[in-house]
Amino acid sequence: MAKRVYLFSEGTKDDSDLLGGKGANLCEMTGLGLPVPFGFIITTRTCREYFQAGNKLPTLLEQEYRVALDLVEGKMGARFGDPENPLLFSVRSGAPVSMPGMMNTILNLGLNDEITEGLAQKTGNPRFAWDSYRRFIQMFANVVLDVEGGLFEKELEQFKKTRGKVHDIDMQADDWRELVQRYKRLVDLPEDPFLQLKLAVEAVFRSWHTPRAIVYREMNNIDESLGTAVNVQAMVFGNFGDSSGSGVAFTRNPATGDRQFFGEYLPNAAGEDVVAGIRTPLPLSALEQQLPAVYQQLFDTQALLETHYRDMQDIEFTVQDGVFYMLQTRSGKRTGRASIKIAVDMVREGMITEPQALMRVSPEHVEAFLHPMIDPSAKRDIVASGLPASPGGATGQIVFSAEEAEQEHTAGHSVILVRRETTPEDIHGMKVAAGVLTELGGMTSHAAVVARGMGVCAITGCGSLTIDCDAGHVTTDDGVVLKRGDTITLDGTSGEVMLGDIGKIEASSSDDFQILLGWADKHRRLRVRANAETPEDAAKARELGAEGIGLCRTEHMFFDSERIVIMRAMILAENDEERRTYLSQLQQFQHDDMLELFKIMDGLPVTIRLLDPPLHEFLPQSSDDIDALSERIGKPARQIHEIVENLSEINPMLGFRGCRLAVVFPEINEMQVKAIISAASDAIALGYRPLPEIMIPLVVNVREIRLITRIIDKCIHETARARAVSIPYKIGTMMETPRATLGADRLAPEVEFMSFGTNDLTQMTYGFSRDDAGKFIPKYLKEKLIDIDPFVSLDQRAVGRLMKIAISESKSKKQGIKYGICGEHGGDPRSIQFCHDIGLDYVSCSPFRIPIARIAAAQANVDGNQTY
Ligand code: PEP
Ligand code: MG
Repeated sequence: MAKRVYLFSEGTKDDSDLLGGKGANLCEMTGLGLPVPFGFIITTRTCREYFQAGNKLPTLLEQEYRVALDLVEGKMGARFGDPENPLLFSVRSGAPVSMPGMMNTILNLGLNDEITEGLAQKTGNPRFAWDSYRRFIQMFANVVLDVEGGLFEKELEQFKKTRGKVHDIDMQADDWRELVQRYKRLVDLPEDPFLQLKLAVEAVFRSWHTPRAIVYREMNNIDESLGTAVNVQAMVFGNFGDSSGSGVAFTRNPATGDRQFFGEYLPNAAGEDVVAGIRTPLPLSALEQQLPAVYQQLFDTQALLETHYRDMQDIEFTVQDGVFYMLQTRSGKRTGRASIKIAVDMVREGMITEPQALMRVSPEHVEAFLHPMIDPSAKRDIVASGLPASPGGATGQIVFSAEEAEQEHTAGHSVILVRRETTPEDIHGMKVAAGVLTELGGMTSHAAVVARGMGVCAITGCGSLTIDCDAGHVTTDDGVVLKRGDTITLDGTSGEVMLGDIGKIEASSSDDFQILLGWADKHRRLRVRANAETPEDAAKARELGAEGIGLCRTEHMFFDSERIVIMRAMILAENDEERRTYLSQLQQFQHDDMLELFKIMDGLPVTIRLLDPPLHEFLPQSSDDIDALSERIGKPARQIHEIVENLSEINPMLGFRGCRLAVVFPEINEMQVKAIISAASDAIALGYRPLPEIMIPLVVNVREIRLITRIIDKCIHETARARAVSIPYKIGTMMETPRATLGADRLAPEVEFMSFGTNDLTQMTYGFSRDDAGKFIPKYLKEKLIDIDPFVSLDQRAVGRLMKIAISESKSKKQGIKYGICGEHGGDPRSIQFCHDIGLDYVSCSPFRIPIARIAAAQANVDGNQTY
């Protein structure tokens, strides 16, 4: 039979799976010789046993903990249930992963009338004894007997009123004694301390399933099956008189990360009074003045704990009658800024290694340096939530069109662009908006990809909103109506939409952040490139550390309002000649942009994807757009309507896009290759070192590659010959269809690189439309039909397996192929770990994800357990 009960002297900090985080740390502190009130822990395994048996405690459990209890009595010099010399316990939950305040606690357990009398005599402090008893009844009734806490509060208020008392401090021993008798009439309280203990243990187990704990686990991805341990610890009292008190402290400042011990102390108060915020706590300097020896002990203890744990600690302590006790230590929660400062400082101080510092940092921490973030302490008035498509926080007035966004922005207002979904026509509005909110669309929809690329906060797939752009209002699930001009705040990191202007913490870089990124670069194997096409995005990407461009979506180069008209005219052309006219105009734009990219990415690879316009993203939709186009290209609007209708597809994502376009219209690819190669040769003439990599999208078989390669080769040789330069270039393909990955051995001989386009690969593997997934993925997540959105974090089981097959089969035919990923997963830390493990050479992501990708790539490559 596995041991179910451990004394504090029987565990270490490494036992948190079994003993819970709190219990493991109590053991560790006991082992360090710190003054921890003694006790024992009932294991998390016992909790799981309890649930498996249909909420029944194992038969032998009581026998086991009674043995431990005897030993605690010996150590504390008092006896549980003995009125002459009573020992009381606190009974607390403690999960393997910290879930602060989510589960239940009972203090002062082991009291009844007789024992309270005994405690009053022993301590000579009847007021304290009866106050402790009434607190116990309140907590026990609430946690074990499920009695509303408000019932007791009301009784207390009533009592005070009839006796003319205002504050708790005015209550004397007899008052508390009388109140206890009233409380006892409200509930059926067990008198036997051992029965109290048994019921309390069960209640703590059950509190694993309180609604708030369940929600917390969901939000923080904590495994539902872990269960909680129960910590049974001898009570010490901070409310024992003037030389007693309770406090909490941090070994460093959790907001700034400064090396500065600080905390709060409340004299003559129990721990729960500090947390409840009933009275305002004092700074620790008050303790230093009043009880200097105790303060010194606290100071030495915090220093010892930080050195021992090699991390910033959050500690709880109690002083009883001038004697110092440690009640808890744990790794302290901190802001993103503090997290990076502490990690870097601790390396400087010789406490941790660079790999350990890297492992201490999470993507959320890094985001605090890249975008303004919603202040975690701000009050949120949440009206809806959707998919967290692009991180950061943004506040602005609601606008319903790109035009309005531009107007209001020019008038000096911050705006949130609210659309059912976005198209390239909205880009100019997205550019000036503080945030973008859409009802439809998943994590790789147009709105999500473009906003992320721009670093603009966005929430997509917010299906609980009904957005009516024409009428100019948004209706929430609860019937709240938001109108044009109303102020809302988006949290693009959590997906929450809030009313009003919610406080934010501004982003700004720091030397420590740059130092940490430097370490990340030193410790990673995966290269990090950017998905970028405009010179601004490319410049931003380099500033943030990109080592080249992994995906230049050439069609995005034509999103500009002037260019999109020509692009549309080209798509709508009715014959080759017409098409060539527009293509030559596009070629000039393409050439100029490519030249800029080559300059910015001097000496670094630039992967240029040949045109892949899912037509529905490019065709004019509204009558206004069609009229504008009609005027611009001199074609009757009616005729344009007809062509648009002819071109419209039932399944555009699986339609006429990718290399299929080049198969039907080879002149489009010709134009692009000419633009790329002439720009490369101009760059060389200007003294730059362009490294173009031409990428063929959405391939399903080798014949497509051969056909397009022939066009590319011909163009390149003609241009290179005409200009008498030799241009280093590579040809590769995107792996975006399941068939391409399964036929990678056939593709391999024809290419020098393969880049996994996991947006489309996920779409086609799941059969989930990228553009429509926002409608049902939130429900899938809620109902636990999937654990994680596969458009956010790579699905290793199916999509990942296809990637592995592609790599191993292509390697069997040709060595030296470079492998990359350029779907949105290239910026997701979990996916990056997987890409590292399967041996990709690089990841490519939107510019603002690059620092995160650099750190995640290093985390994938280091051994975080390695210490000095
Ligand atoms: C992909 O499919 O993963 C990809 C990067 O291409 P796009 O998102 O442009 O379809
Ligand atoms: Mg794609």
